[in-house]
Amino acid sequence: MTAGPVIHQAAGFAAAAPPAAAAPPRDETLGLNLAAATRPDFPLLAQTACLGQPLIYLDHAATSQKPRQVLDALRHYYDHDNANVHRGAHQLSARATEAFEAAREKTARFVGSANPREIVFTRNASEAINLVARSWGEAFLRPGDEVLLTVMEHHSNLVPWQLLAARTGCVLRHAGLTDTGELDLDDLRSKLSERTRLVSLVQVSNTLGCLNPVAEVAALAHSAGALVLVDGCQSLPHLSVDVKQLDCDFLVGSSHKLCGPTGMGFLWARESLLDAMPPFLGGGEMIQDVFLEHSSWADLPHKFEAGTPAIGEAIGMGAALDYLQSIGLDRIHSWEQQLTRQLFARLQAIEGLRVLGPTPDQQPDRGALAAFHVEGLHANDIAALLDSSGICIRSGHHCTQPLHRHYGLSGSARASLSFTTTPEEIDRFASELEGTIAFLREHS
Ligand SMILES: *Cc1c(COP(=O)(O)O)cnc(C)c1O
Repeated sequence: MTAGPVIHQAAGFAAAAPPAAAAPPRDETLGLNLAAATRPDFPLLAQTACLGQPLIYLDHAATSQKPRQVLDALRHYYDHDNANVHRGAHQLSARATEAFEAAREKTARFVGSANPREIVFTRNASEAINLVARSWGEAFLRPGDEVLLTVMEHHSNLVPWQLLAARTGCVLRHAGLTDTGELDLDDLRSKLSERTRLVSLVQVSNTLGCLNPVAEVAALAHSAGALVLVDGCQSLPHLSVDVKQLDCDFLVGSSHKLCGPTGMGFLWARESLLDAMPPFLGGGEMIQDVFLEHSSWADLPHKFEAGTPAIGEAIGMGAALDYLQSIGLDRIHSWEQQLTRQLFARLQAIEGLRVLGPTPDQQPDRGALAAFHVEGLHANDIAALLDSSGICIRSGHHCTQPLHRHYGLSGSARASLSFTTTPEEIDRFASELEGTIAFLREHS
């Protein structure tokens, strides 16, 4: 057998529905309760909080919980195959290498690439963007060249470009938003020119929840002669993403948002681009031959992977991607769409509460999260009181400070869902939120 369990099936799910391979007709899947089917796989979600109330985790956009299939894959690797990769003549190293490279193939397939050489493993999505900025940016950008971003970007897709601008003299531009809190495509179009070398944008905003038309942006960018980087952190866990359909040039993702371990992320890039790019970090693993004064580089993708990689974490991420695919990204998306509608219906009924980004009526495919502001109240107080009822939501700027500033806010509260979320949890969250708001209004 290959190293690590090859997980074809989420067991809890298997009990409730046929395997993903035998894709059932769509009307059948729409009624399927994914939460009931998958909850047995997530021991963490079964715990009770204070006063014996069930814990309700609504912070999946910050980090996902890990199913036991992923924990089993980590355990199996350390129990049976642990060794360093790509260098041992012995059997453990051969098995570790096989499992590690199998994870790379799974990652490539997950984003619609047939070529594992196009997947570079990184520590997280932030490092993947830094890799592109440092390697591609420093090699190919000249003073006056432009990088076009959007005001809704995560700090991870802003700061690396600011550092690059300081080093190269390239210029940063930012596309704005429409009144509904979606990407203003006209504004983006007007800021594209022959000076634009790269458009880098998020596919699903972690604050607005909007789904950006990245395929359309890629077509626009390419016709202006620019490349496109897609931040897939919040899209990859929730809908099917295919780099061929998007026709993008770079795509980054993060394991810990995909039910996988922390310390692991990846960059997908066209092989021709990776070939032309100089190394990012230097060290072992990324070299062919080393002399005292100079070296030559290893083949792709190892040229970009200096030092011993996160082997167990990569294998864990591979198991997580298998798990998500065993459920089916289309099924996940439609289940989460129902939950999102329910969440919005409850939130929109609360007086003085404003949700950022488009409603499900304005954008039916929007992400399964809601960042909101309650007039006169501080998001931290709301989150702290909900926490005392066992409900975990996020408060703060969610790493999108410029976006919050655009709305004149210092922060917001955010509830983010997953396929494990139940309609009952959304109801309880909304009721507790109503009580919390009433309490805070009374005492402020
Ligand atoms: C979480 C997140 C990031 C950063 O990912 P890390 O893997 O934690 O570096 C970037 N962009 C978006 C939209 C995110 O949600």
